[in-house]
Amino acid sequence: MTDLRLRLALPAALLAAALTAACAGPAAPERPNLVFVVLDNVRSDRLSLCGYERPTSPFLVQLCGREGSRCTCDAQAPSSWTLPAHASYFTGAEVPQHGAGKGGDDEGNVRLGPGTHARPLDDALPTLAETLGERGYQTVLVSGNPLVSPASGLTRGFTTVRHASFFGEFSGPGLPQALEDALESVEPPSESAAPLFLFVNIANAHRPWPGVPERVDWLPPRLMLSFPQKAGRPNPQRRSFITGTMDPDEAAELVAHLGDVYDFSVRSADRTLRLVLRTLREGGWIGGERPFRVVVTSDHGEHLGERGLMGHADPYLYEELTRVPLAVYGSAPIPELPRQIAALASYDLLLDGRPRRRPVRALAFASDTWPRWYRPGLGSRPGAAIWNGSEKFVSHDGEILRYDLAEDPGELAPERWTEEETVAELEALLAALEASASGEPPSPEMLELLRSLGYL
Ligand SMILES: [Zn+2]
Repeated sequence: MTDLRLRLALPAALLAAALTAACAGPAAPERPNLVFVVLDNVRSDRLSLCGYERPTSPFLVQLCGREGSRCTCDAQAPSSWTLPAHASYFTGAEVPQHGAGKGGDDEGNVRLGPGTHARPLDDALPTLAETLGERGYQTVLVSGNPLVSPASGLTRGFTTVRHASFFGEFSGPGLPQALEDALESVEPPSESAAPLFLFVNIANAHRPWPGVPERVDWLPPRLMLSFPQKAGRPNPQRRSFITGTMDPDEAAELVAHLGDVYDFSVRSADRTLRLVLRTLREGGWIGGERPFRVVVTSDHGEHLGERGLMGHADPYLYEELTRVPLAVYGSAPIPELPRQIAALASYDLLLDGRPRRRPVRALAFASDTWPRWYRPGLGSRPGAAIWNGSEKFVSHDGEILRYDLAEDPGELAPERWTEEETVAELEALLAALEASASGEPPSPEMLELLRSLGYL
């Protein structure tokens, strides 16, 4: 009898406590200031944070050494260039779900620069800035990359927007200045002020790469390298390298030069990140009364001569193009990150403070320029990659290959792969990419396929 009373009394007490709490009103949802930084064009293996021998990222090393910060060098970018990758970061969706970034002058595509046309992010999916704006956030975007602009659809939901009008405009002090200017247009931090969602693209590591001056003790002096090109035409030097017609000594020197100016620019991106976070700390946006969370990643890497490739935005999803850093810290503890993670988890880390379980995979549209510029067939088919621990499966040029990254980190020894399940998954991913690029609404079969792949 006593036992029964006890059993009845306990839930009643819990219910009473719950009702008391309900009468007091639900606790106000936590609305931390949120800062999302994309280090454009920065690949993990060129960061001292990730074991690179040159001191390219002293600030990231310091940031990741702080108690409570979580960092990995094994995040995989969702795609191979700025537009599709940012579209994924801003919507939480993989490329076949939003379709942004398909190049060429198809109907619906927009001109993003001289000779650059692509499909913009349409308004079918809500963006982070829209979602946070509905939650009362002030939304600010500052971008050193001119492609992160209203034309590409990527600024949707941001009330304050400052973006460079050409690559290189916001290098040096340009970006911190644009940030200070943008922050002047929002309500400064106070107990009653709305929280801030700030997005910053730091494009220092993107072409054009400034030269290396004399006084740098870890690099030889170098001239600027920018690979200038006329609208719609390839740069002749890069063309001669990629087509293999360049003299071998000249090619080796070009790779060394490119590596040096790239590393110097990665260091400059790291320095800009330090300045950005210092501005936010001094302004009271981070480290003040209100909780905060900072997420830093990259949108894609860069081919620096490996396998005869240079540049990015092509469908060859090698590690130098996809493996990027992901760093998170804030005023509240962040759960441990899995060692290998989709960089798209940055969306979840911003919204919820924890990563969702997501498949680790990347998709890239066929290049509309490479086959014309360099070699028929080169980059003419879309690419897909799936990671599973040290195993990586890719579809390159329509061929399905497996790499063992533990045994073969340079991806030099591919194995032709015919195992049915993996082949079916890669083919389905490519079919979904193709369907999304057509701009047509998905058929019931495609919806079913997307569901089976975890998109919906
Ligand atoms: Zn980019």
